[in-house]
Amino acid sequence: MSTSPRVVIIGAGIVGANLADELTARGWTNITVLEQGPLHLAGGSTSHAPGLVFQTNASKTMTEFASYTVDKLLSLRKDGQPCFWQLGGLEVATTPERLEELKRRLGFITSWGVEGRLIDPDECEKHYPLLDRDRVLGGLHVPSDGLALAARAVQLLIERASAAGVVFRGSTTVTGVREEGGRVAAVVTDDGEVPADVVVSCAGFWGPKVGAMVGMDIPLLPLAHQYVKTTPVAELAGRNELPNGARLPILRHQDADLYYREHGERIGIGSYAHRPMPVDLDELPSFTAEQMSEHRMPSRLDFTPEDFEPSWQESQRLLPMLRGARIEDGFNGIFSFTPDGGPLIGESPDVKASSSPRPSG
Ligand SMILES: Cc1cc2nc3c(=O)[nH]c(=O)nc-3n(C[C@H](O)[C@H](O)[C@H](O)COP(=O)(O)OP(=O)(O)OC[C@H]3O[C@@H](n4cnc5c(N)ncnc54)[C@H](O)[C@@H]3O)c2cc1C
Repeated sequence: MSTSPRVVIIGAGIVGANLADELTARGWTNITVLEQGPLHLAGGSTSHAPGLVFQTNASKTMTEFASYTVDKLLSLRKDGQPCFWQLGGLEVATTPERLEELKRRLGFITSWGVEGRLIDPDECEKHYPLLDRDRVLGGLHVPSDGLALAARAVQLLIERASAAGVVFRGSTTVTGVREEGGRVAAVVTDDGEVPADVVVSCAGFWGPKVGAMVGMDIPLLPLAHQYVKTTPVAELAGRNELPNGARLPILRHQDADLYYREHGERIGIGSYAHRPMPVDLDELPSFTAEQMSEHRMPSRLDFTPEDFEPSWQESQRLLPMLRGARIEDGFNGIFSFTPDGGPLIGESPDVKASSSPRPSG
């Protein structure tokens, strides 16, 4: 008989679904994932993420995690269809300082095993013909970067973990954690209790709410981040048929805190250049499972066009064909930010697991 501890994971976004999958791969057998949203579109940050996977990061560990993610996403397929397309990543420099930074980046990713190349403006234009070649001083090209369909990746992870015995319960909101003698005993939900030896919060930007259930302060702030899709642009005509709607590399313009991907005939633009937009968790929109859709979910707030205006101007300078386009759809999407930008991982100092956090059977 299995003596695997009873693990309850709170949240079935990309983190919770991956954790369940990784635990089963390591022999854990007694896992339940509780998700407040419907499992097919939970409504957290993962449900609206455009799926860019750049591996270059100044932290060796984060770069290695990103490379692991690329390998893992490549391994997830169903009916011959992938959920990740290795289109490459291009980060361009429009200032001499950024070009120097790209040289530094090439140095560290190379030493950490990620292949990349510094390319001149002509080659940048070859990889990304929509660029204004004269604005670009050079670029860092990483062929193994790419574009995921995040929601599909979660579905494939849920299927694989379910096949390995994990129980996923959607439309089940965790409302508390019951403790006995300073150790977890059960997770309390709006649909009864689930006994637990180990509880893992993968609640994303709802983390502070879950932490508060056991009196824990979680140093994490939900902030909105802007993302838009343009109207169709002539240069991309006919691309709606492409898998995941993209052929060009994913593009980063860090001098202006911007990134880009194709959505068929449209361009998607993400911006970090706006004012900080902290979000009050008590004021999130709420939807029933039936109401939830790509455009209606708790992690998607109304677009504030005035905040995006400088990013739109800059995007039209970098990609001149956007001068004939408009913003068709935009939103202020919520996700988590910690003081150092890293993840929060580890056992609570206040509430212990009820058994050693490793399987023994
Ligand atoms: C506009 C935008 C664009 C982005 N683009 C990218 C990108 O291109 N590439 C990239 O890598 N990242 C991107 N991100 C970031 C990325 O979306 C997040 O880092 C990631 O999705 C976080 O995953 P998660 O599983 O931690 O959180 P979530 O996906 O939010 O999952 C947490 C889950 O926990 C559930 N939950 C919370 N509380 C409870 C409770 N009490 N009971 C039960 N369930 C609960 C929620 O319903 C939710 O489904 C983007 C973010 C935004 C906002």
